[in-house]
Amino acid sequence: MSLHRALTGRVVIATHNAGKLREMQELLAPFGIEAVSAGALGLPVPDETGHMFAENAAIKAHAAAKATGLPALSDDSGLCVDALDGAPGLFTADWAGPNKDFYAAMERVMRELEKREAPDRRAHFVSALVIAWPDGHEELFEGRVFGQVVWPPRGDKGFGYDPMFQPDGFAETFGEISSDEKHGIDWSKPQPSGLSHRARAFVKLAAGCLHRV
Ligand code: IMP
Repeated sequence: MSLHRALTGRVVIATHNAGKLREMQELLAPFGIEAVSAGALGLPVPDETGHMFAENAAIKAHAAAKATGLPALSDDSGLCVDALDGAPGLFTADWAGPNKDFYAAMERVMRELEKREAPDRRAHFVSALVIAWPDGHEELFEGRVFGQVVWPPRGDKGFGYDPMFQPDGFAETFGEISSDEKHGIDWSKPQPSGLSHRARAFVKLAAGCLHRV
């Protein structure tokens, strides 16, 4: 018997980030879930007061589940640069400022690295996915992808910091590959794995809580 609770029917995607929403809808597509976004339901953006990605993901998922009476799936994610002691980390979205200028955010990463005269460009993305049910039950799944940050940024696919992140084993950045390649999941394999942090977390979520239709 699974230790996880199955996720079926209508689910709120607790994000106001268009890039994450698109990726989560793509990832959920094979599982017959009716995904509605927090934005489409007019839900407010809760304050992310946690000290870890998982805490912030839980805050967002529980707020959406409570407000709608539906199970809610959220992602809290970020880019952690080794030579910047893990920054921007929890503040990855904040570095883009109120205008959500991700070119400026990527420039800031590079400026901070230059200030420290740090040759080390190692970095990783983290995704914490939380599903919360209206009765308070929650499930957490995490994924990471390791690589390096590059300058100048390359590619116009994806979102956020994708054009400056080159995953290990690839000559391209996430901004230069299709979203299918970024997910990197072959569902026909007995034990699918993913490429991106979100896809890696999602594969675990799918194994625990989802059934293919
Ligand atoms: P938050 O989870 O809403 O706090 O925002 C996380 C931020 O991390 C997003 O606004 C993106 O800029 C960035 N981020 C998270 N995942 C990705 C990704 O897959 N590609 C590029 N940027 C990402």
